[in-house]
Amino acid sequence: MSANLSQLKDHLVQHLLMDPELTSSEETAASELDDFVSYLSSEIWPCLPKELRNASYSTLANVPGIDEFALEELTPPTVIESLLSYGICSGDDDAFRLLRKVLQDYVKELCAPPPIWSATRAKECELCGREVPLTYHHLIPRSTHAKVLKRKWHPEEMLNSVAWLCRPCHSAVHRVASNEDLARSYYTLDLLLEREDIQKWTRYASKQRYGVKRG
Ligand SMILES: [Zn+2]
Ligand SMILES: [Zn+2]
Repeated sequence: MSANLSQLKDHLVQHLLMDPELTSSEETAASELDDFVSYLSSEIWPCLPKELRNASYSTLANVPGIDEFALEELTPPTVIESLLSYGICSGDDDAFRLLRKVLQDYVKELCAPPPIWSATRAKECELCGREVPLTYHHLIPRSTHAKVLKRKWHPEEMLNSVAWLCRPCHSAVHRVASNEDLARSYYTLDLLLEREDIQKWTRYASKQRYGVKRG
């Protein structure tokens, strides 16, 4: 499977995890989620323009804008039907909105400038446990530091605590909570792991092979 296709899958999973219906059913096993998302991605993937399938930082100029993109014409009806029959989307418009957001995230991540990796600290991602290139996540996001100090949410010495996360886990964390929520309620790995959406994400991610090009 191409590295870009696994990115698309990851973003689909992250959006589906925000669905309260899906996240409240404790027994939605990681494998079921994986099957469902694999199915959806395999249906959508061949219908996407080549420029989108090969999106990267170096091809950024050729990547079509997702807003102008004729998603309604390209998406196979089976995808929309699945999203509706699983109760994930309430109607066609809702389903296209979801797909558009997923594609926006997909493009944004693939076309981002290459991150500065550091493999000097933890070797394994602290959420999914995979041995892959890591980024560091400020458990108390930097954008909140001034507020955190002013409101005395945390002592100053805690501001620099970081977790070493792979890129997909890092984006999952920022997808489930705003920076302020992270700062106030999810400022340790244990607290993050108490969230059911993060647990599900972690179980899913730990089973995924990390694409060679994804580092
Ligand atoms: Zn990870
Ligand atoms: Zn972060």
